[in-house]
Amino acid sequence: RGLGDVYKRQMKYYVNENIKNTVRVFPRQKRYNCLRYDMNENPEGLPKDFVDSVLKEITPEFLAIYPEPDKFLNKYANFIGAQYENVVATNGSDMAIRYILETFGEAGKSVVTVSPSFEMYWVNCNILGLKHKPVAYNDDLTINIENIINAIDLDTRIVVLLNPNNPVGNVYTEEEFRLVLKRTQEVGAILVVDEAYHYFYKNTFIDYALKEPNVIVLRTFSKMFSIAACRLGAAISNPQIIDYIKRGKLTFDVNSIALLFGERLLDHPEVYKELIQIQDEGKAYILANLKENGYECRDCRGNFIFIKPKHDALMVVKQLEEQYNVLAHGYSNALLKNYIRVSTGSIKSMEKFLKYFYLVDNK
Ligand code: PMP
Repeated sequence: RGLGDVYKRQMKYYVNENIKNTVRVFPRQKRYNCLRYDMNENPEGLPKDFVDSVLKEITPEFLAIYPEPDKFLNKYANFIGAQYENVVATNGSDMAIRYILETFGEAGKSVVTVSPSFEMYWVNCNILGLKHKPVAYNDDLTINIENIINAIDLDTRIVVLLNPNNPVGNVYTEEEFRLVLKRTQEVGAILVVDEAYHYFYKNTFIDYALKEPNVIVLRTFSKMFSIAACRLGAAISNPQIIDYIKRGKLTFDVNSIALLFGERLLDHPEVYKELIQIQDEGKAYILANLKENGYECRDCRGNFIFIKPKHDALMVVKQLEEQYNVLAHGYSNALLKNYIRVSTGSIKSMEKFLKYFYLVDNK
């Protein structure tokens, strides 16, 4: 029977108002055979022999057992120089964001973030009935730290610094961070530092997450570790905060395959060290090449850059996709409408991108 028949049958039932009023746009599908520079994944992924060796460990018994995160958590805590009690693993850092807003947010009270930034912050605010308070950028893509501090008041429950921010790529100095920290502690707010792009951008505020009462650092395995499909993220904080997050979380939200890949990556520093090196070389290559060709571009500090095409940015994105199956990210908002965001990867994958980009933009 067609879907239409169902919709014709009217019936009244309760729908959560916040969810009803949240408009979502989900990522496009059918990306497998495209050249993917649109979602800050690793365009090429992990070495095939490494993936094959991990997959060999997946047996019927392995699949039959509910996930046991502790082995991963102990290894990961050790890896970041923390204790088991400092870490909770989540189904992508996406889910850590949801848990944190559920646990420390209060209906009608505010969550301060910069804007534009990673959209799951405002989406989760809408869903949970929290007041999203966005702090705007200047036209030159800088942000005044005073504007963030001034947005924080006694109604603020959570402040988020994305370091670097996706998409703008700005970062915070230790002095700026400490000013925000002081203000959050004055008003009794949680301070989240989203470090999704750590390892590409090496500064971190993780020491504060371990020592201060109200700081949480978010990390993910989707970016440098290159396993976005597995959905593995982590929140890092003091044991009290982690205990609160664990009370609200789903018991088995991180699956065993994600935990296994996470563990094996940590067991093989040679694999991830090479990923960092490949990425750093590729980014330096594409930035230099674009500059030589007269392009204005911006290192956004993660595995992504902005390029200012000669032609209309959204049109360039569209033509790349329609003519060559090359995916990049464009923006309709006034601040970023002249840029395209391009995920970076190996020199080889950057050469592929540039070939098609120049074909489209030099016409
Ligand atoms: N935070 C930031 C700043 C991001 O850019 C992203 C993904 N693009 C995430 C969090 C979520 O990553 P994941 O859920 O894959 O861990």
